[in-house]
Amino acid sequence: MIGASLLLALLQGPQPAQEAPPVPRLVVLICVDQLRENQLDRLSPVLTGGLHRLLEEGQRFRGARLGYLITETGPGHVTLGSGCLPDKSGVLANQWRVRGNKDLVYCVGGPADRLGVGGSYEASGRDATNLRRPALGEILGQRWPNSKVIAISGKDRGAIGLGGRTADACLWWDKGGRGWVTSTAFGESLPPWAAAASRGWVHQAAGWTWNVSFDAKAPPPGTQADQRPGEVPLPGGDGTLPWSLPQPADRGDSAERAKLAGRVYAVPLLDALALQLGREALQAEDLGLDGSPDLLCLALSSCDSVGHRFGPKSREVTDLLLRLDRDLGVMFDLLDRRLGADSWIACLSADHGVLDLPEQRLEENLPGLRVSKGELGRLRGVLRDHLKETLKSSCKLTIVGHAVWMNADDVRAAGGDLVQVRRQLAELVREHAPWADLVFTNEELTANGAAGILGLAQASYQESTAPDLLIHTQPGTLLGLSGGTSHGSAHEYDRSVPLIFMGTPFTPGEHTRSAGPEDAVPTLLRALGWTTQEIEAFGFDGQSLLP
Ligand SMILES: [Zn+2]
Repeated sequence: MIGASLLLALLQGPQPAQEAPPVPRLVVLICVDQLRENQLDRLSPVLTGGLHRLLEEGQRFRGARLGYLITETGPGHVTLGSGCLPDKSGVLANQWRVRGNKDLVYCVGGPADRLGVGGSYEASGRDATNLRRPALGEILGQRWPNSKVIAISGKDRGAIGLGGRTADACLWWDKGGRGWVTSTAFGESLPPWAAAASRGWVHQAAGWTWNVSFDAKAPPPGTQADQRPGEVPLPGGDGTLPWSLPQPADRGDSAERAKLAGRVYAVPLLDALALQLGREALQAEDLGLDGSPDLLCLALSSCDSVGHRFGPKSREVTDLLLRLDRDLGVMFDLLDRRLGADSWIACLSADHGVLDLPEQRLEENLPGLRVSKGELGRLRGVLRDHLKETLKSSCKLTIVGHAVWMNADDVRAAGGDLVQVRRQLAELVREHAPWADLVFTNEELTANGAAGILGLAQASYQESTAPDLLIHTQPGTLLGLSGGTSHGSAHEYDRSVPLIFMGTPFTPGEHTRSAGPEDAVPTLLRALGWTTQEIEAFGFDGQSLLP
């Protein structure tokens, strides 16, 4: 006689030899704006929340570097969200110039008929037109049409950069005072939970005070003293904390709301509100609770706005990261409770790093220099004089950031050889700008396959967007900034970002292999069950870091 279970097995036909591993039901993709990799090492002794958990339980790729030169927010988020470097993703910088066009292209700028939902001026004309490649959420939707994608950020380019072209909700902070906003590219109205947050934020923000949350007498390791040279105090402040947001007399007044919203953007409350919105999305949308994996993108912008003013080792950024650690811990605990600890995975990275304040570097015997606008003007004069002398005619020439632009038609009309003129100007820059590390000509930028910093520069330009010259500065140099700090170079401090994956199937530990944020999407797809061959077929620049 055949046993009942055997009979059942025979009736059901052949069974798979091995059960497939469970697919995570939610991916949380986190981008901390301006979080340099070594900040996590500096603060690891005092972290206790979500960042601590990522360091303890995560698979950390310490060799992660950005694979391009223009280390700015737009390309940073899009690379992390799409698995492709700027020359493939189409998002080259925060904004860029196309030769022959007067207007700059904004990375998440779209057609003028894209309107800001809820009347937001800041959200109008914003969409994902410039993103040429599908983001992770779009790929998930191809396999699981019911998959939900929610993207939240302090910045439009953060939310759109991670969420991509097809996010179900793509929300960013409106410095005009309307709370969380989106454009009609992502829906005709705000989801109810976002609309509620946009009504309620003023009550949380009015009079909010930023107090240092660590013992001021025993600050975390590597924290600078307060009020350092080079810092840019918060509006009306003296460069110390506590510092308070205004208390609007009339909370319905649009000008007062706009002022308050602009100040929120400058302090860590912005991240706290973004993570609060993320928790509300998680619950209202039941993320991760059905058979279709969902994606929650959190692009947290406060570290960048505070970091630009005070520098990464400041008390302000240190305090902000401790707050972020705690708030991420709250988010992760909620995920564990709702979904179960084995049902979600997270990836944390950054869009770029940052330079320490040049003044701080000098104290540490490292090179540090601020090149003033006047000095840049003098260099422009030298280059213009050369053109006038050799071409016997005036030729327009401007220096925008690190790029030198000429009017090619002027040069040709005067009988000049454009290639030769560019080489001559490059020589003059080398001679007159001791702070220039490397000077690349348009011909070098638009070629392919170079190694080193030129190779990184080539990944940041296309034929039509390359300037006549690109000046890469010496380490520690800031152009045209009299205070604060920035990023945007190919130096280690700008390119070095965290890349950590957590949850099943990731194995806790550290790796030193070379990697980059472009590996995040292929790696997450592998964790979600895509085969290596299927991943290769997408043509990402990155690759799966899982076998
Ligand atoms: Zn950024």
